[in-house]
Amino acid sequence: MELDLQPIKLQGVSEERPLVIAGPCSAETEEQVMTTATALAKNGIKIFRAGIWKPRTKPGGFEGVGEPGLEWMKRVKAETGMYVTTEVANSRHVEAALKAGIDLLWIGARTSANPFAMQEIADALKGVDIPVLVKNPVNPDLELWIGAMERLNNAGIKRLAAIHRGFTSSEKKIYRNMPLWHIPIELRRRIPALPIICDPSHIGGKRELIAPLCQQAMDMGFDGLIIESHCAPDTAWSDAAQQVTPDILDYILNLLVIREVTYTTESLSELRKQIDACDESLIQELAKRMRVAREIGTYKKEHNMAIVQTGRYNEILEKRGSQGALCGLGSEFVRIVFEAIHSESVRQQLEILNK
Ligand code: PEP
Ligand code: MN
Repeated sequence: MELDLQPIKLQGVSEERPLVIAGPCSAETEEQVMTTATALAKNGIKIFRAGIWKPRTKPGGFEGVGEPGLEWMKRVKAETGMYVTTEVANSRHVEAALKAGIDLLWIGARTSANPFAMQEIADALKGVDIPVLVKNPVNPDLELWIGAMERLNNAGIKRLAAIHRGFTSSEKKIYRNMPLWHIPIELRRRIPALPIICDPSHIGGKRELIAPLCQQAMDMGFDGLIIESHCAPDTAWSDAAQQVTPDILDYILNLLVIREVTYTTESLSELRKQIDACDESLIQELAKRMRVAREIGTYKKEHNMAIVQTGRYNEILEKRGSQGALCGLGSEFVRIVFEAIHSESVRQQLEILNK
């Protein structure tokens, strides 16, 4: 399905990249909301975020202040002139947010992963013209992400944007949620007119990662940033480690280098030709390697040998790992590439064995 989209134009908000949305993870008290919002507005932020209803992993955590917080959002609008946005997860939230005059809605990652909830929200939004920002589902499923936006679009929501907030993974090395950049990049390829906003706060999970992630998102040509900012981050009731003060946020934004998105200079297309040639020989070499692997498969079958010979596999990983390091390739990258090559060899040999 093609999405029927319109740009999210907001009066008084520059259309230049990046569109910036900032504010605390959660609205906690009226004072915290107003102090944070006033400081952000003073630094030129035009769109204020705050979670009013918070999806928590376990009961007993801070689940948001609920409807009283909407009154504080109204005050932010009235006193700072900023647009305001909050997360909605069901039709009751939608109704309350619309009644309070919330300007943009966002859908959280746990909600976009749930088609029933998405349909309920879409139904509640029938006939309403409001921008909706849809976070990627917690699991790395592009179709589910697009499906959530299709449901809203079918209900008549045309001012849509996607928020890339990273994906849950058992591998928690650097990030709280793995960025898996290829997924939003594929989304851009599939739906070029859809704005993509990066959420470095939930990808990184710690404040040191905000600046490099913002820069990375800009370098990938993303359209905007949604960043958690709190007047006293360390005392925040949720996501304390990843929030920054309005002044630190201002500092981070001022340092961003914004590069042109679509330029194809001659030298760039020359370099792209070289990349295409490299890719072509990579495929040729891989095909050659697989032909040899199949021959080995035939040999193993004739001599009744097992396909996977662990010693040999370790030797390959080690040899190529050190060769890769000498050539400036990351060890993790080399490991992943050779694991993929090895599992394709095994698959091809199994085919021969079972013939
Ligand atoms: C949030 O933005 O505070 C939030 C709950 O995010 P996510 O849905 O990405 O976990
Ligand atoms: Mn948060």
